[in-house]
Parts: sequence; C-alpha cells; structure tokens
Amino acid sequence: MKVLVVGAGPAGAATALLLARCGLGVTLVERETSFERVFRGEGLMPLGIDALFEMGLGGVLESIPGRRVESWNIWIDGEEVFIIPEPVEELGERAVRVVSQPALLEKMVEEAGRYPSFSFEGRSRLHDLIHDPGSRVVGAVLQTDETVRERCALTSSSEPTGVSGAHAHGAAA
Ligand SMILES: Cc1cc2nc3c(=O)[nH]c(=O)nc-3n(C[C@H](O)[C@H](O)[C@H](O)COP(=O)(O)OP(=O)(O)OC[C@H]3O[C@@H](n4cnc5c(N)ncnc54)[C@H](O)[C@@H]3O)c2cc1C
Repeated sequence: MKVLVVGAGPAGAATALLLARCGLGVTLVERETSFERVFRGEGLMPLGIDALFEMGLGGVLESIPGRRVESWNIWIDGEEVFIIPEPVEELGERAVRVVSQPALLEKMVEEAGRYPSFSFEGRSRLHDLIHDPGSRVVGAVLQTDETVRERCALTSSSEPTGVSGAHAHGAAA
C-alpha cells in the first residue's frame, strides 16, 4: 500500500515517519518551501515529549535549538508579580521545553528519510482529491508551482483510505 500524507506539520511528519517504519510506501507533501512555516509556538509539554520518546525521537531534543523551562515568570506592567516553578527535577527528561519547531520537523522528516519507502516533496500542494464513483478516495491532484499533476494509483478496492493527524490529510493508494 502507498500512502500520501499531506502537510509536514507535527501530525503529518509523525504519521509519515511511523508509516514508513511499518514498511509502507509514504510520500509526504508540504505546500511551503521550508519548515519555517507559519509560527506555531515552541512549547513542548510532557505529553508531547512522551510521544517523541515513544517514537524513538527523544534524543533529537538534545540536538536541536531549545531549552528546558525552569519557571513561568509573570510580569504585569513591567513588574514581576510572581513565579511559578516547573517541577523540572520530578519530570526529568519529560520536563517542559521550548524547542525550535522548524528544527524538530526537519529532524522528523530526516529520520523518515532513512527508510527507502519514504519520500518528501516540499512546495507541493494538495490541489484536490480524486474519488471513485463510490466516493472513495483513490488518489490526489498535487500542484507544484504552476504544474498540476495527478497521483492516482489505487487499484484494489479492499485497501483502506489512510488518514494522518489533526490537520493533515491522507490518501492511501
Ligand atoms: C500561534 C500558535 C501557537 C501555538 N503554540 C503552541 C505551543 O507552544 N505548543 C504546542 O504544542 N502547540 C502549539 N500550538 C498548536 C500547534 O501548533 C498545533 O497543534 C500543531 O501545529 C498542529 O499540527 P498539525 O501537523 O496538525 O498542523 P499544522 O502544524 O498546521 O501543519 C499542517 C501543515 O500542512 C500544510 N498544508 C496545509 N494544507 C496543505 C495542502 N493543501 N497541501 C500541502 N500542504 C498543506 C501546512 O503548510 C502545514 O505545514 C500553537 C498554535 C498556534 C496557532
């Protein structure tokens, strides 16, 4: 089965990596030209860090720009009014961090690139989905700059349609 994952945000990059690890043919497309997309925040909470560790990407956190958050210092009208310490000791490697999201995404896609069944296409936008007469998704129309091309490869009606994370879309072919 081949899977097209649309959008190299955290959801799409993680989905593509996990599917590639399962041995599936995966193409990840992203409409932007770089991972410096729209700013999406930099805070990684313990649950997000857990997810990275579960994906075997815990070590990546030490290799990208970022730091642990020791405390939240609240300022009002130029005056520091209180400090909320983070339980850094208690949480250990799961302590809240701020990280460079572009660097994290780049590392995730780089990791997926270790699998020969994976490919990444930047500056490639999902233009439309292709449906069969039964409304099942059987392919996609991608647009790169001025070029519109069809990627339509589903031949078996028994295969399910792939789906990625929250904002990313997927089509299995
Ligand atoms: C201002 C702001 C601050 C935030 N701060 C934090 C924070 O500190 N910590 C935190 O954990 N979360 C934060 N979030 C939430 C976090 O950014 C989202 O939960 C996360 O980005 C969702 O990931 P995603 O992969 O689902 O979607 P996105 O990150 O939106 O990724 C979707 C990707 O799909 C691409 N795309 C969309 N349409 C197409 C198409 N047709 N063809 C090809 N590519 C396409 C987009 O370019 C994008 O790269 C913040 C969000 C915002 C808006």
